[in-house]
Amino acid sequence: AKSAGGNRFELADPEADARAITRHGLTTALPAALERGEFFIEYQPLVHLGDGSVRGAEALVRWLHPQHGVLSPDRFIPLAEHTGLIVPLGRWVLEQSVRQARTWQERRGGADAPGPLRINVNLSPCQLTHPGLVQDTVDILERTGVEPDALCLEVTESALIGADDDLLKPLRRLAEMGVDIALDDFGTGYSNLANLRRLPVSVLKLDRSFTQSMQQFPADPVDLKIVEGIVSLAHSLDLAVTVEGVETGAQAEQLRILGCDTAQGWYYARPGPPERLHELALVDATG
Ligand code: C2E
Ligand code: CA
Ligand code: CA
Ligand code: CA
Repeated sequence: AKSAGGNRFELADPEADARAITRHGLTTALPAALERGEFFIEYQPLVHLGDGSVRGAEALVRWLHPQHGVLSPDRFIPLAEHTGLIVPLGRWVLEQSVRQARTWQERRGGADAPGPLRINVNLSPCQLTHPGLVQDTVDILERTGVEPDALCLEVTESALIGADDDLLKPLRRLAEMGVDIALDDFGTGYSNLANLRRLPVSVLKLDRSFTQSMQQFPADPVDLKIVEGIVSLAHSLDLAVTVEGVETGAQAEQLRILGCDTAQGWYYARPGPPERLHELALVDATG
């Protein structure tokens, strides 16, 4: 117990302090990190479940911190959202990724290439409410010469729950231009399935928790029914279904049988440098 005159610091939790200091340190270091070019992007292929071909990739940002090494986005995206730096950071990620898609498309080329490689980019809720989103996206597509339908913006389900028309307007504009909007982490929120019709989305990204439940064989029959139901509802609304977190061939096969369209996960490839995706896609296009 704490007694008068006792050491006040006895009650402190040194680990919590260290975490707070790091959080504070990281937060204040963010703007300079963007200027110094400490962020980089890894790409993880999106694979067509029907024929196994690579159709595109998701861009996933990382921070090469001079002291702490490579930091995952879970460590710094929330901080960037909190300070507003997510807007310029997100714009940077979008521009880099779309440029990269352009490079892949040029190098893949060829009349029999199965369509241009597509690029998926995550949008944080703060970017959605930022007035520059539509114009920034249009500018980036024009500068790079990438077609809008080669771009997919991923928005989490929770960001759109209860969204009013003002929030949906920029997404509608983008969707009308041909940009795909994906509902990320689908199934983790309080999905109002009927609400889907109202949203300008064309892709559902089924959360990794569903994929994990396909780990056992035979999979839990209730989980199978749920995924089957989501897929058939999605398809009846003209939405494509992408599954995340596929780690085994058995999961991929199960999800293919359930009618999912596209998959992403360590079974195919971990997120990696852009050259890696090019190798995977090129092998696939010629083989
Ligand atoms: P997310 O959008 O749900 O991205 C999928 C996460 O699952 C990535 O984690 C990816 O590396 C990981 N993953 C992929 N395949 C597998 C698998 O087979 N098994 C397992 N266990 N995990 C897998 P990562 O790269 O750490 O990113 C975490 C989150 O950070 C992302 O989740 C996304 O919400 C956010 N994020 C990443 N890049 C950006 C960005 O540029 N902007 C914004 N706003 N958020 C980003
Ligand atoms: Ca995502
Ligand atoms: Ca996700
Ligand atoms: Ca996630």
